[in-house]
Amino acid sequence: MRSFWIFGNQLSHELELFEHVESDDVIVMIEATSRATWRPYHKQKLVLIFSAMRHFAEELREKGYKVDYHEADSFQDAWDDHFKRYEPEEIHYTAVTDAAMEKKLKQFGQKHKLVEHSDVPLFFLTKQEAVDTIGDAPWRMDRFYRHMRKRFEVLLEDGKPRGGKWSFDADNRQPPKDGLTFPAPIHFRPDAITKDIIEKVERDFADHPGDITPFVWPVTHSEAHRALKRFVKERLETFGPYQDAMLSDNQEMSHSLLSAAINIGLLTPDEVVQAAVESEAPLASVEGFVRQILGWREYMRAVYEASMPGYESVNTFKHERDLPYYFWDAETNMNCIHQSVKPVIEKAHNHHIQRLMVLGNFATLFEVSPQQTSDWFNEMYIDAYDWVVLPNVLGMALHADGGKLATKPYIASGKYIDKMSDYCKGCKYNPKHTTEADACPFNALYWNFIDKHEERFAKNQRMKMMVRNWQGRDDAVKADILAKARQTLKDM
Ligand code: FAD
Ligand code: SF4
Repeated sequence: MRSFWIFGNQLSHELELFEHVESDDVIVMIEATSRATWRPYHKQKLVLIFSAMRHFAEELREKGYKVDYHEADSFQDAWDDHFKRYEPEEIHYTAVTDAAMEKKLKQFGQKHKLVEHSDVPLFFLTKQEAVDTIGDAPWRMDRFYRHMRKRFEVLLEDGKPRGGKWSFDADNRQPPKDGLTFPAPIHFRPDAITKDIIEKVERDFADHPGDITPFVWPVTHSEAHRALKRFVKERLETFGPYQDAMLSDNQEMSHSLLSAAINIGLLTPDEVVQAAVESEAPLASVEGFVRQILGWREYMRAVYEASMPGYESVNTFKHERDLPYYFWDAETNMNCIHQSVKPVIEKAHNHHIQRLMVLGNFATLFEVSPQQTSDWFNEMYIDAYDWVVLPNVLGMALHADGGKLATKPYIASGKYIDKMSDYCKGCKYNPKHTTEADACPFNALYWNFIDKHEERFAKNQRMKMMVRNWQGRDDAVKADILAKARQTLKDM
């Protein structure tokens, strides 16, 4: 007989390896405490993975597969037990994306005969295709995305992009207007399996961060499909225009909240893209959403595959400050940080602009260590895995790779946050002030960053206007701003 090992982030019935399972083969699934403590993961992330694994094991049994499910201290303990009972000739598994797990598998492979299967449909591309498609750095997402649209024939008419352009990004950046509301997403009620897991996590992982309830995430394929259906029918239409907006009393807005389910195989990226393409939503919203999955998600994964090992330690700007304590308790006078960290504690989630333009922006301008920042993102989010965290945090948010992944750093002053959110209205600081006592801390730090890296960005097409703006200022004004920035960093 042979064993087929399914990991907690590969819970798809479409896995290619199922085509090879015969009647005397056994599926192995391991709920390992040691893996759950590689990092202090948010409690809801542990509940999601363990609950989704147990539900998936049930579904496989119902389909007639023999499943050997282990709750164990470590993968090794579970395998020792499995070998005693079954003595498999081969162990089959689906290719993993995270480098740390791959290393463990290599060690495991020294003692056992392993057979690797393709990781499509967890991604559109296989590992090798991802590396070949992205090519050498500097990588560019728009190029990659056009290739993906053509290769998978998505939103194409006679080989040309539907609507005449590849991206409707410019239409998708509207600020929130007064009274803006969105249809609510589905929230799921924990069933008996999830309730058991919540008890286990409360008991065994009490020192992990984050609130454990209310837990509202989909943990089965059927729940994930209901969430997708509701999103496409009721919420995709407004996803496009307000993709970059942020509101205090509506953290979710029109975002899909599907990343947690997609990243563990409850939905395949292909079915999510198809559902959007077949919807009646306006083209700008459909394209905007397709770009996130077929474009950004695959691009980030390709960057990871092409750049590991090594990418995890990039630090172009040599930032070394510690991440402040309020990233764990949201207790800060900076209302944008408070409003962005609160949902992370409560439900392990933020939408993209909170991650990028508030928290990532903060880490860049406050000169926080990129590794501490990526560790925090890795530990605190329901959808976090190395392959998606490292490129998004180190490459996109912090520009710590020196521009391999993105042409410019995503930095902004308080004025941008004021325009795109209602956060500044409830803040002790004033987004229009730079050096005054009540000045928004982002403002002086923004110019401090430009000043420090003036030479690097003077010729950058997308940054040179800001560099010229800074260079054209009076020396005394510049000195005041830099003094304020130094004081702000000291106060932190
Ligand atoms: P939506 O806004 O509805 O977007 C639709 C889908 O597109 C998402 O579900 C996701 O699958 C995909 N997507 C969009 N942008 C990206 C991207 N940049 N990279 C990968 N997939 C993308 N995404 C994660 O899945 N896990 C992470 O740990 C993660 N960390 C991030 C850290 C930073 C600093 C930044 C800037 C982005 C990060 N992202 C991460 C990407 C993105 O913010 C989340 O995918 C998104 O917020 C998830 O919420 P949603 O499902 O409502 O997304
Ligand atoms: Fe954030 Fe500055 Fe606005 Fe306050 S004023 S919410 S610190 S951007």
